[in-house]
Amino acid sequence: MDSFDVVIAGAGPAGGQAARLLSKKGFKTLLLEKAPSFSSNDFSSGGAPLEILDDFNLPHTLVGAYCNTIKISSSHDTHCWQTDMPLAVVLNFKKLRTFLADETKKQGASVYMGCSYQGHDIQNGHTLVHLKQSRNSVIETVEAKVLMDATGSDRRVLKGRASPKTPSNNVIVGRGIEYLVEVPESVYHTYANALSFYIGAKWMPQGYAWIFPMEAYRLKIGVGRNYPDEQVVPHEKSMGFYLDQLIRECLKIENLSILDKHGKTIVYTRHQRDPYLDQNIIAVGDAVSTVNPFTFEGIRHALKSGEFAARHVQTFLETGQQMNRYPSQIRSYFGIKWVISELLTDKIYREPDDEKMNTMLRAFKYLSLSALKSLVFDYSFKSAIQFYAAYHFLLVRRFFGQIWKRHTPIKTQ
Ligand SMILES: Cc1cc2nc3c(=O)[nH]c(=O)nc-3n(C[C@H](O)[C@H](O)[C@H](O)COP(=O)(O)OP(=O)(O)OC[C@H]3O[C@@H](n4cnc5c(N)ncnc54)[C@H](O)[C@@H]3O)c2cc1C
Repeated sequence: MDSFDVVIAGAGPAGGQAARLLSKKGFKTLLLEKAPSFSSNDFSSGGAPLEILDDFNLPHTLVGAYCNTIKISSSHDTHCWQTDMPLAVVLNFKKLRTFLADETKKQGASVYMGCSYQGHDIQNGHTLVHLKQSRNSVIETVEAKVLMDATGSDRRVLKGRASPKTPSNNVIVGRGIEYLVEVPESVYHTYANALSFYIGAKWMPQGYAWIFPMEAYRLKIGVGRNYPDEQVVPHEKSMGFYLDQLIRECLKIENLSILDKHGKTIVYTRHQRDPYLDQNIIAVGDAVSTVNPFTFEGIRHALKSGEFAARHVQTFLETGQQMNRYPSQIRSYFGIKWVISELLTDKIYREPDDEKMNTMLRAFKYLSLSALKSLVFDYSFKSAIQFYAAYHFLLVRRFFGQIWKRHTPIKTQ
């Protein structure tokens, strides 16, 4: 039986980054991925602030496109913020995970693609991990000193109780579908260099839609809905309907060349109350709700949790010191910002009101590009307060405007 220092189930950003760091330190690492290749589950849009490259030592070859513009459209209006320098990137998600797995392999570790974690048991103090090769259904058992759950929202190892069917006061569910499309040069240039977001009932009730650029003449176009199984507002139309409408109205192309269709449901546990640790088993990334519940941006946060976990695993393997401080480190890193994001998600997506969405866009216009960026990507309190002040000012102005209209006699000729 093969024996490893650490077996990591799931080669997403969280598992891949942890494997990259642990193999670099010389630990005997096995990274498992149930998908046969990274093209078969290329589900993430890959939008992130530019800093992700330096913060996680990622090469520029992973970037699909650099963006210097943020564009937000509501049902009635559009506003654009632009700068000369890139402020965000759209990562090629497939390349990102391939890079992390390749680095892991280069450092002497093993990566098994098309191989899924099936279960584990503890015998005489040894953790035995059972794996299944999808190509021949053969079950193999390996021994691990540490087992890491990096299976994303599936939470396959530590089996958090969160699932799309869990009562919604315990979880926030987000479902996204996205196409990778090829478009003519003229259409590509309209969307190149910009992260374009679409909010409001016209584009996606209880959610938002987006168009992100990728490598030349390719765009990622998608829609995401929060609480997809709850009809907070009537939305008789399917998510596919809104995606087709976005294609029709924005790209204006018939017989569009669709290169890939993908989608996924992410389940976030409120207050990040997932099991993080059970003796020598540790969980990372979406398995412990590191994705931001308001924006559903999760790549950076998954990478970060992979880094935190790798440090605790290293100490455990070198000194035998338990990994007990890992949960509090994760909670204090995400902390109050994630709790506020939960409140915002409920406020905005559970009480959607198209007129308020429009007012929100008008309030965003009061923010500079750097304030908008720190609101969207850094969840900055200062920018949030600036936004809220503008938003409430506009609501009050609208309220008095309506009273004024009601009490102004209509002039007759
Ligand atoms: C439509 C959509 C768009 C998104 N867009 C963005 C975006 O623009 N920017 C951003 O930052 N975030 C985005 N996200 C969120 C982001 O992709 C996730 O938060 C991030 O990928 C989480 O990383 P992870 O490693 O924790 O989990 P995952 O990326 O989900 O990786 C988990 C891996 O584990 C594997 N696995 C599962 N079960 C097993 C098993 N039993 N054995 C072995 N392997 C297993 C899975 O195949 C998968 O590869 C988006 C999400 C969706 C759904």
